[in-house]
Amino acid sequence: RKYHEQLVELKNIRVLCRVKPVLKEDQHEEGQSVVVTTDPNNESSLNVMSKGKGRIFELDKVFHPQATQEEVFQEIEPLVTSCIDGYHVCIFAYGQTGSGKTYTMEQGSVEHPGINQRALKHLFSEIEERKDMWSYTVTVSSVEIYNEVLDLLSKDGEKLDIKINPDGTGQLHVPGLRVIEVKSFQHIKKILATARRNRITFGTQMNQHSSRSHALLCITVQGTDLATGSKTTKLNLVDLAGSERVWKSGAEGERLKEAQNINRSLLALGDVIQALRARQTHIPFRNSRLTYLLQDSLGKGSKTVMVVQVSALESNVGETLCSLKFAQRVC
Ligand code: ADP
Ligand code: MG
Repeated sequence: RKYHEQLVELKNIRVLCRVKPVLKEDQHEEGQSVVVTTDPNNESSLNVMSKGKGRIFELDKVFHPQATQEEVFQEIEPLVTSCIDGYHVCIFAYGQTGSGKTYTMEQGSVEHPGINQRALKHLFSEIEERKDMWSYTVTVSSVEIYNEVLDLLSKDGEKLDIKINPDGTGQLHVPGLRVIEVKSFQHIKKILATARRNRITFGTQMNQHSSRSHALLCITVQGTDLATGSKTTKLNLVDLAGSERVWKSGAEGERLKEAQNINRSLLALGDVIQALRARQTHIPFRNSRLTYLLQDSLGKGSKTVMVVQVSALESNVGETLCSLKFAQRVC
């Protein structure tokens, strides 16, 4: 199979960048000139003009503003296949609020579904293709990490406690987490809709905004084959909280605490990926709940893609540069 050959060559950690198109509602009075441009002759470089100076960033791949959801998914599809082949996979969307993370992961609209839906569709079609040789069990869970960890598949946003399993295997154990077995793509589409709806309603109940939280969708794939036994892998799809530096705008109290929490967890994620990339022996998973929850899916035998979302507008150039610096740190 074509994909399998490609995968050998793919790096275990890849950083992609997607430039959001300038929409009507993004055009304010000031700072609407476009300062982020892609290079038609080089699909891995990005140009940013700031303070009269041009800077070039090199990433694994850059999507220009007109790139479709389909084109973005083409880069992700081999990873989903490799999840069925035995790798843990994590896909993250990173960037400031409004840069298109949720659009990329969830869906822009019914006609333009994002990575989550396409990944699951691909997963089930691969499973169908292999059904003569393998049998698969697919389960799904979904949580939101804010000041608390909430179960997005529960009715009322149940708070969860994360623990390390006392059985000594080092496996994560989250008592009370709803884990649903899914049989088909249609079934999981309904579950995704529930998680999305809950993210919005739990958010308003707690007077928070969904842009201030991480949303995780965790798919566990257990494959069983008569000859080789069974193998379990995870596909984690993560819509990260906005990366903007809120404290710079003079936030106080709860909002400042929240901003620091979020920033700490994004920083911790960067540290973990950097440590993995450098093949360090100590990986600092315990520095945030996000990396703690994902520790069994990051690292050895796993593949990670970070989609860094940026705005093209001058008014956002400070945040854009910060996001690209983050990208370079993990790239
Ligand atoms: P974030 O999740 O990073 O805060 P959103 O995904 O909510 O950002 O995007 C902000 C707005 O921009 C939304 O209205 C979204 O539909 C729109 N948008 C983002 N990316 C695109 C795109 N590639 N094409 C069209 N609209 C987009
Ligand atoms: Mg969002």
